[in-house]
Amino acid sequence: MSLVEFPYLFYGLIIGVIFLVYIFSGRRTEAVNRAIKMEQIDAGLTEPASLHPAIDPGLCMGCAACVPACPEKNVIGIIDKKAELITPTNCIGHGACAAACPVDAITLVFGTEKRGVDIPHVTPNFETNIAGVYIAGELGGMGLIRNAIEQGRQAMDAIADRLGDLPAVDDVLDVVIIGAGPAGFSASLGALEKGLQYATLEQDSLGGTVSHYPRGKIVMTQPAMLPIVGKTQFRETTKEKLMEFWTDTAATTGVQINTHERVSQVEAGDTYIETVSDKGRYRSRAVLLAIGRRGTPRKLDVPGEDQPKVVYKLVDPAQYAGQHVLVVGGGDSALEAALALADTPRTTVTLSYRSEAFSRAKKKNRDQIDEYAAAKRMRVLMKTNVREIGSDHVIIEREGEDLKISNNTVIVCAGGILPTGFLKEIGIEVHTKYGTA
Ligand SMILES: Cc1cc2nc3c(=O)[nH]c(=O)nc-3n(C[C@H](O)[C@H](O)[C@H](O)COP(=O)(O)OP(=O)(O)OC[C@H]3O[C@@H](n4cnc5c(N)ncnc54)[C@H](O)[C@@H]3O)c2cc1C
Repeated sequence: MSLVEFPYLFYGLIIGVIFLVYIFSGRRTEAVNRAIKMEQIDAGLTEPASLHPAIDPGLCMGCAACVPACPEKNVIGIIDKKAELITPTNCIGHGACAAACPVDAITLVFGTEKRGVDIPHVTPNFETNIAGVYIAGELGGMGLIRNAIEQGRQAMDAIADRLGDLPAVDDVLDVVIIGAGPAGFSASLGALEKGLQYATLEQDSLGGTVSHYPRGKIVMTQPAMLPIVGKTQFRETTKEKLMEFWTDTAATTGVQINTHERVSQVEAGDTYIETVSDKGRYRSRAVLLAIGRRGTPRKLDVPGEDQPKVVYKLVDPAQYAGQHVLVVGGGDSALEAALALADTPRTTVTLSYRSEAFSRAKKKNRDQIDEYAAAKRMRVLMKTNVREIGSDHVIIEREGEDLKISNNTVIVCAGGILPTGFLKEIGIEVHTKYGTA
């Protein structure tokens, strides 16, 4: 008996091999997905930030159409023949998984049973319950760059309509825009286009969350209408190209953005709204909050923190080559910053954390920190608190004793303060969603 004489045997063998490869590669992928999920659970990274898919296991048939549809890597995966959110905190709510599911097993929801997400109440024209105070972009619940650009523009249209009906007031701006991410930037261009008297206040730099993406990140977006500029044509680009586009647009249009100015208070009065920042006070007839949902970096509140050598994120480790750097914090961002700096030539790294264990960080990062500390590639100071930041040193307190350490830069990675408190102080109504579609 030969394969030539019995062709069905030949084809049967090929189909059998393909079937076995399919089964084994599927099992291997499931094992990888399970390992990724366990790592996230270990690090306590189980709750998505905002809009995310809720997958009905009764309807899901494990076809995996949602997996390649998601523009982010390893966010959704198959485990036990069902789709699951394997890295929930990396989900940014593209919603492509829901669109790709052939059996409608995926619904997009805000919050989970365990962790509510606070969504401010806004009218269809983006106004809150406080007259003259508007919200656009991710703060209102809808993430993604395109949505933020569209909402920023539409909110400014609504503000201009409202102002057209009201009398102008001397020494009072038309609008203060808080935040210069995609929503605030689009709104600022809208204000400029309409000839409004505006001020845009941004605590960090132009670009918002986009400016914090990892270097080289592929950005998936869709065309959106940007005032003055027209329709943006981006679909798939990189963080760097998008940032270059924002910066060039700011330069060519002349739109004014006050960077490194943080707003702490917004108070609505009868004739105007007062906005208080760390650099001044502004009176305006309307305020647009475009502050996103990522929050404001938590500060240490110690003497010397206002020096320019204190920063709240690591952008490029190479810029600290040859320096004494102190990293403060115990989460993944602190550990990853310390590791990247320890790999930078001639940099001396000290990592200070107030607790006795890095319980909030991924196992991979914790293990690597132990390795680097054992090899004396960095100094790790547990159960310590920064007491004072001098121009060339820092004072760190450890169990009642003060340590003085040479220092050129302090990188504080102590998490962020979410915007809900700020909204409530202004008097804006907020609804907590626990897995609501
Ligand atoms: C890792 C990651 C990857 C992503 N990838 C994509 C992608 O590929 N495609 C996509 O469409 N979306 C993506 N997103 C989502 C997208 O970045 C956001 O939805 C979008 O940036 C929201 O825009 P925004 O203007 O509403 O808010 P933000 O971009 O968050 O901007 C808010 C701005 O307000 C400022 N601010 C906050 N509080 C104050 C204050 N008190 N005073 C002054 N300024 C303040 C902040 O500094 C910030 O600059 C991603 C998000 C993350 C985290």
